[in-house]
Amino acid sequence: MLFLNLENQLLLIIVLIFSFWLFVNSFAIKLQSLKTRAFGMAFIIPLIMTSASFLVSIYNKSNAISLFIISHVLLLLDCTFIMFINKSTDSFKLFYVIPYVLIPAGFYFSSMTIYPNLFWVIRFLLLVTLAINLVLLINITFQKEKDQMMGFAGLFILSFSTGLIVLSDFVSMEALLLMALGYICCTAYVYYNTLDKFFKEYKTSVESLKRINSSIQTEVIKRVEAIERSNKKLLEKSKTDNFTGLLIKTAIVEELERFIQRAPKSTISVLMIDIDKFKQINDTLGHQIGDRCIRSVTNLMKASFRQDDILGRYGGDEFMILLPDTAGVRAYLIADRFRELVQSKSKPEVTVSIGIANYPSDGQDVQSLIEAADKALYISKQKGRNTVTLYSNHNQI
Ligand code: GH3
Ligand code: MG
Repeated sequence: MLFLNLENQLLLIIVLIFSFWLFVNSFAIKLQSLKTRAFGMAFIIPLIMTSASFLVSIYNKSNAISLFIISHVLLLLDCTFIMFINKSTDSFKLFYVIPYVLIPAGFYFSSMTIYPNLFWVIRFLLLVTLAINLVLLINITFQKEKDQMMGFAGLFILSFSTGLIVLSDFVSMEALLLMALGYICCTAYVYYNTLDKFFKEYKTSVESLKRINSSIQTEVIKRVEAIERSNKKLLEKSKTDNFTGLLIKTAIVEELERFIQRAPKSTISVLMIDIDKFKQINDTLGHQIGDRCIRSVTNLMKASFRQDDILGRYGGDEFMILLPDTAGVRAYLIADRFRELVQSKSKPEVTVSIGIANYPSDGQDVQSLIEAADKALYISKQKGRNTVTLYSNHNQI
């Protein structure tokens, strides 16, 4: 190596580094087309022959240059062929072995006796690769897909710089720079068609995976919300009496229990309401009119009580109403107003009897409260119906 001048040494180093990367890359990266792999594999020719050129240069400088030139002529022929074939077919596998045929041939041609005779052939071949790559390079500038452009440019520049070395028989600074540029273009071609493509594909896959994940997440959230909504509806439906739309017995008893548990220090009044002599209506006017009567009382109930009050059908013609935060006397006034409303507005005309028990004064738990309200209702019935009775008042008597 020390026997070569600086340009020659630099040239050999550049060629060795780039051809080594290109060749190793063709093995190392699995995800690449047969074409780029065949292209990279071709660089075994300059890699081996240029290494030999280093060794030979100690004894014979002109043989070193001929090794270098022949290796590049063979490389250019091989790669131009590869680039010329457009479709990535299985035939590219043939190019995996061609370099190993060309290398011994190259050594043979670069031997002292044969090389001078090949001078014109080499010029001609370089002219051919130069022309083909130039045409392909111009052609690709008019096309949409430009991923092969760097390959054509690299081969064109390599043909040109090898031609310069052939013509002057020494390595000028211009030839060296052009050679380096040619190798950079070839490396860029392989990089854009292997690693860069791989990184881009990886990035788009990660992004699409993220998109899929987030859309799955939103879909799952949507579905869970829909299920929760329909569950809630079902639960509400299962707690409501179909005929009146009021809470069923178990649901309103649960509400009372929940209220006492949640706010044991507050007060709540339980109203037990029963339609008077309802059996008679059924018997005299018929069940349909009886039903209408229940609906009429229910509608009056819905219209006259507050939003916070809880209305339920305890069974048959009996209703339970919870008045949260309402003490006995106020509950009595509200109940009596409702009694009057039913008497004046119900259709068919009926009256109701009401019993009131208050938490915590009349009972500390649900059971005793209901019992107290029931007793008060019984007293209202006994008093001649269409009456309101406060359990606490009755108790004091
Ligand atoms: P009281 O004043 O003592 O309450 O006398 P009552 O005739 O109203 O007696 P009770 O409350 O025991 O009678 C309830 C009747 O209501 C018995 C049942 O046939 C009738 N009933 C229960 N549910 C319905 C219903 O959904 N529609 C109709 N039409 N009648 C019902
Ligand atoms: Mg009744």
